[in-house]
Amino acid sequence: MQLNLKKQKETQISYLKYIICILFAVFFSFCTFPCQISTGQADKIVASTSAQQLNINDENNTAFLDEMELKQLKQLQDRGPKALPPLSKSVLASKFIRHGSEDIKQVAITFDDGPYLLTEKYIEILKAYDIRATFFLIGVQVEKYPDDAKMIIDNGYEIGIHSYNHKKLTNMSIDSIETDLIKSLETIEKIARETDIRFFRPPFGSFNDSVIETAKKHNLTTVLWCVDPQDWQKDDSEQIARHVIEKANNGAIILLHEGRQGTLGALPRIIEGLWEKGFEIVSLSELLSTAE
Ligand SMILES: [Zn+2]
Repeated sequence: MQLNLKKQKETQISYLKYIICILFAVFFSFCTFPCQISTGQADKIVASTSAQQLNINDENNTAFLDEMELKQLKQLQDRGPKALPPLSKSVLASKFIRHGSEDIKQVAITFDDGPYLLTEKYIEILKAYDIRATFFLIGVQVEKYPDDAKMIIDNGYEIGIHSYNHKKLTNMSIDSIETDLIKSLETIEKIARETDIRFFRPPFGSFNDSVIETAKKHNLTTVLWCVDPQDWQKDDSEQIARHVIEKANNGAIILLHEGRQGTLGALPRIIEGLWEKGFEIVSLSELLSTAE
């Protein structure tokens, strides 16, 4: 009986020794090769850190990324917060703006009433000519065509608000005007939180002191226009383009509308015609940062 007990004890001790040896071996290998224990995780950490620090123009840094990853990285960098140029003092002090500086050969193209069915086509043309433009969006249209609104923002175009549902604000009480503007801002901010919205254009260009003051209260500058080809009621692209090119002058703010085949057709001719006359086509913020 005693012999049996002794044997059992010896067996237990030898098991214990065996377990200690295994634990020691595991501990030793962990200390020697810590990265190999969780290779997958380590790779992920290295990759994400590298992506944050990457300079897209540095070919050595981006060599290990495939085409899709490079594209995603570029999109993220393009979408990052870009500081808009500060508006000039005279612009900020004005009740409303119809044009920029008359001393500089710049103009701004603006599109009202979108997003709409042809937004993608408009953007294709703007991108093909590599020009900036500003879109004044209507709240209900943003809700109806969120992907198109996103497309405008993701492609880096400046946006302003053009009311929630395009009602004449001058017929409303000051409280209703404010509710409308807040609703418009909230609708757009839902899809583009970081986007800087600094411009407002009242529907039909009709405003009074209540409209202007409410916009100012929300840090919005009221922007009208000085070149209007009445494209919303014309299908003749040539006529629309001719009007814009003839009337354009230094600092001009050009009013066009989204969702119009005539306007879409006129766009290449407008851009080329403005360039032929020596105008630089810029965003509203650029145009109004120079206006004195
Ligand atoms: Zn409108």
